[in-house]
Amino acid sequence: MSYQNFSLKQLQEIDAAHHLHPFTDHKDLRGAGSRMITRAEGPYIYDSEGNEILDGMAGLWCVNIGYGRHELADAAYKQMKELPYYNSFFRCTTPTPVLLSKKLAEIAPPHINQVFYGSSGSEANDTALRLVRHYWALEGKPQKNIVISRHNAYHGSTVAGTSLGGMSAMHSQLGGAVPNIVHVMMPYSFELAQPGESEHDFGIRAAKAIEDAILEHGPENVAAFIGEPIMGAGGVKIPPASYWPEVQRICRKYDVLLMLDEVITGYGRTGEWFAAQAMGVEPDTITTAKALTSGYQPLSALLVGDRISSTLVEKGGEFYHGYTYSGHPVACAVALANLEIIEKEGLIERVRNETGPYFNQALKERIAGHGIVGEVRSFGLMGAIEIVKDKETRERFPDEGSAAVVVRDHAIANGMMLRATGDTMIMSPPLIWTRQTIDLAVERILKALDRAERDLRK
Ligand SMILES: *Cc1c(COP(=O)(O)O)cnc(C)c1O
Repeated sequence: MSYQNFSLKQLQEIDAAHHLHPFTDHKDLRGAGSRMITRAEGPYIYDSEGNEILDGMAGLWCVNIGYGRHELADAAYKQMKELPYYNSFFRCTTPTPVLLSKKLAEIAPPHINQVFYGSSGSEANDTALRLVRHYWALEGKPQKNIVISRHNAYHGSTVAGTSLGGMSAMHSQLGGAVPNIVHVMMPYSFELAQPGESEHDFGIRAAKAIEDAILEHGPENVAAFIGEPIMGAGGVKIPPASYWPEVQRICRKYDVLLMLDEVITGYGRTGEWFAAQAMGVEPDTITTAKALTSGYQPLSALLVGDRISSTLVEKGGEFYHGYTYSGHPVACAVALANLEIIEKEGLIERVRNETGPYFNQALKERIAGHGIVGEVRSFGLMGAIEIVKDKETRERFPDEGSAAVVVRDHAIANGMMLRATGDTMIMSPPLIWTRQTIDLAVERILKALDRAERDLRK
């Protein structure tokens, strides 16, 4: 059955009647109707009306190699014909997760050599939480099970993901979080630094909040700290350079495991394979998903450090955990093809040496000066634009979050897909962007900012 037999309006009606969307107000959706994306090529997506939109979000932080890559389709087709599925339970496996695990061990930091698969970032964080608690139980310290996270963190939308995350709106609908997870301040200097406090000092203070929580609960009860190297959904919050080394030092001091959630930052976005390498830290687990397949298949990989994996092997005993689709052969085949493209085309080096710095410069020199922009920041190909009413005082527009939606709607109308979170515009373009793509994006964003300013100051 082809969707082309339906008009946009028909599809929207069927959608409203039968399809519950993620993170959506369904009353609003009924009114406005959904935006129908029907195809994509390279850095562009196209809607059902034929509008071309530059995808500043790489789908949802995932399409790092851009759209329309036949190599991935071919890898999936070949694997589906040969073996579409078999499980990796009960001492079975299939070749593609085996080879992918080897590849991931090669590109991960040297002390990380094992991989546990799932189909989403949320599942991988669920695995990570259970694994660190299992680790401490195997080590004879089952009471060491508190995990420290941060306000406004995003770690997925399952019960464990929401509990680990620090989004208050999500917690308010949870009806009881997974116990023994506590949240501390985030490293967000734009709003939380004190007047006159340097970036360096702010980073140390934000890390100290973790130490304070460890001491409050007792190091003997704290299993791990979990954090996104750069907070993504929470607004592309880039910590000061002093933050992560200090977090690492604190975790080591109290023998607390360090869990990085690299579901966004993994696979090249920061100009390294993993942000752990960019930030110079050695985590015990790295949660990855999204760009592992560039979104062409659902797949997550929890990368597990030697400290945890050697205990699993030495102490033995079954870890009662896994998913039907752990190590799915088709998804793993697609991941292998994706990583090969990232490597062959030098996309990570390009982000590190060329497009990352150019993107940063473009934001600073061409967008930061705009009348409703309070701050711009970027790291690799992740960027943020803070929308404010008053540049000097950083006063926001009234009705939190509504100004950024005005900017976003103008951006999309101008052929530029951006996301609004709170009063921050966020960006996470595909790694195939060139200087020319960045120039085009800046042009479209400036136009959107001008139009939004006109509306907002009316
Ligand atoms: C998207 C995301 C997740 C959740 O991944 P899903 O595949 O949506 O379950 C977890 N952590 C971070 C940092 C993310 O950005």
